[in-house]
Amino acid sequence: MAVIAFIGLGNMGRPMAANQVRAGNEVRGFDVVPQIAEAAAADGVNVVGSIAEAVERADAVVTMVPKGDHAREAYLGEGGILEHADPSTLLIDSSTIDVQTAQDLHDAAAEKGFRFVDAPVSGGISGAAAGTLTFMVGGAEDAVEAAKSIIEPMSGNIIPTGGATSGQAAKICNNMMLFICLQACAEGAVLARKLGLDAKVFHDIAKVSSGNSWALQTWYPVPGVIDTAAANNSFAATFRTDLARKDVGLALSGAEQVGVRLPAAELVAGQLQQVIDDGDADLDCSVIIRNIDPQAPG
Ligand code: NAD
Repeated sequence: MAVIAFIGLGNMGRPMAANQVRAGNEVRGFDVVPQIAEAAAADGVNVVGSIAEAVERADAVVTMVPKGDHAREAYLGEGGILEHADPSTLLIDSSTIDVQTAQDLHDAAAEKGFRFVDAPVSGGISGAAAGTLTFMVGGAEDAVEAAKSIIEPMSGNIIPTGGATSGQAAKICNNMMLFICLQACAEGAVLARKLGLDAKVFHDIAKVSSGNSWALQTWYPVPGVIDTAAANNSFAATFRTDLARKDVGLALSGAEQVGVRLPAAELVAGQLQQVIDDGDADLDCSVIIRNIDPQAPG
């Protein structure tokens, strides 16, 4: 049995922590929003009131927070992980954050003698609940190797990506592709409806045809077609629009740094930004279908 400090118990962190409990590990959970933390107690997480309490004598820390600034706060802030954890504790950041912040966390952790990996995930909340997430793990070889046994109960695939920050680089590229596919699904769904096709019939066709994608199978933005769609639930977030906008923004910043233009990613960033500007940043990103058809059901 391992003792795991889980920091960030939101849409993803809570089911991931629950899988650690199921695997027989002791999980001490902390979230800056007390109600979110307390909800995880129902899954057998030992909810504590500070990072200091969570990391005490922990074998590993897993962080699952929204953005780079939150990760900086959790690791480097006053009362944070690097201040309170023992340097023997393995540090695993599974948040999706910018490469520069990931590098700064690697550097700060190494300076204090910690092993640290950037280990972002793919698979959505359904993958988090099922324990089938794909982990992209960057860092020193010994740290990546040690992280595997901690990550295992939460994962379907653990893929070492290379040195520090390479996990984040892989994740940023993957998610850019995901959100472009989501935009394609939204446009396909609207056109199919306007052409008089039954939504389920069209989805059944696309699923076994060349229009297939993970977004189509998991997030298809039309109610009553697939169980996991946020459209079934008035677009209550499984993946918030502001986080999706962040991810496409990370891809665009990376592209700028290396002198590449990404026209489809630019378009999708604009579509997600429109949802945010309309005041719906907290809704699920699949609500972008309403940019195309304001009457889209859901
Ligand atoms: P979320 O907002 O639902 O959960 C994040 C939680 O972190 C919140 O409950 C927040 O209160 C907490 N938090 C913020 N700062 C903290 C701190 N300093 N200490 C402790 N807790 C803190 O977000 P989410 O959907 O769970 O996503 C988390 C990360 O995973 C993001 O980087 C996101 O891009 C990535 N991600 C999300 C999905 C998805 O489908 N939702 C899939 C893959 C990756």
